[in-house]
Amino acid sequence: PIQKLTHMSTQFQEGITGFQRFMEIMNLKPSIENEPNAVTLPMEEVRGEIEFKNVSFRYEDHSSHVLENMSLHIRPGEYVALVGPSGAGKTTFCSLIPRFYEVTNGEILLDGENICRIDLQSLRRCIGIVQQDVYLFAGTILENIRYGNPGASDEEIIKAAKHANAHDFIMSLPNGYHTSIGQRGVKLSGGQKQRVSIARVFLKNPPILILDEATSALDNESESIIKESLEELAKGRTTIVIAHRLSTIRNVQRIIVLTEDGIMEQGTHDSLLKRNGVYSHLYSRQFETIT
Ligand code: ADP
Ligand code: MG
Repeated sequence: PIQKLTHMSTQFQEGITGFQRFMEIMNLKPSIENEPNAVTLPMEEVRGEIEFKNVSFRYEDHSSHVLENMSLHIRPGEYVALVGPSGAGKTTFCSLIPRFYEVTNGEILLDGENICRIDLQSLRRCIGIVQQDVYLFAGTILENIRYGNPGASDEEIIKAAKHANAHDFIMSLPNGYHTSIGQRGVKLSGGQKQRVSIARVFLKNPPILILDEATSALDNESESIIKESLEELAKGRTTIVIAHRLSTIRNVQRIIVLTEDGIMEQGTHDSLLKRNGVYSHLYSRQFETIT
């Protein structure tokens, strides 16, 4: 049990948000381990180039592949959007990069290095994840943000909160950064929780960012503040956004359209509309929810 707890605190420090994901990793942990001579990547030197080479993946105990022979190259600092119908494998795709699951075939390279050969902790240190369901633990706001980088000073935490547009609302709470949240503390709104989780990732400062866009509607004001914070967060980082609403990605340079049959199309919004394929079909149903 002690060992399990140690693992748990390590996962915690890696700033992976989302309680469900957290539990998933806990259960998976034994099967994913470092190779004997795993290399440690100094985070400051990571450029954030990601390459999928003929990657196939199926969940254990499942007969059919979610991804089959998939290849994709994402350049350092590139911003790409992943769209497609529910069940296409968008979340699965993103889960493979931090090695929450092991590929069944093929390889994933980070800066040219197979991720299987990268020390797991240093790999995950390079990846920030903002999920739709934010997991905050019972504790102060300060502690919750520090989870992104346990060694950070209070000043660094405040700076991260400012970047995340969270500082002002935090200062308006009864005890500012020392306000307790969770069971016995102050209850934050959905938008406020999101901003705390974004502050965590600013503090972590990873070269790679995965954003799983919120499907649940936030109020308009929160939504535009969060959009602004996320744009700021993405600057200078390789970013993959799983978009659920096509309206939010019109200006993205590369939209990747994933279906059960793999990557069907890639391009800008305009070029994809002209193709009159899967994307334009999804777009014409734009007010239906795609998750
Ligand atoms: P998307 O994010 O595009 O909606 P997912 O990656 O969540 O798609 O799911 C792709 C497929 O993999 C779906 O058929 C889904 O049911 C299945 N799947 C997702 N997670 C798991 C899991 N943990 N175990 C088994 N099958 C899963
Ligand atoms: Mg998903």
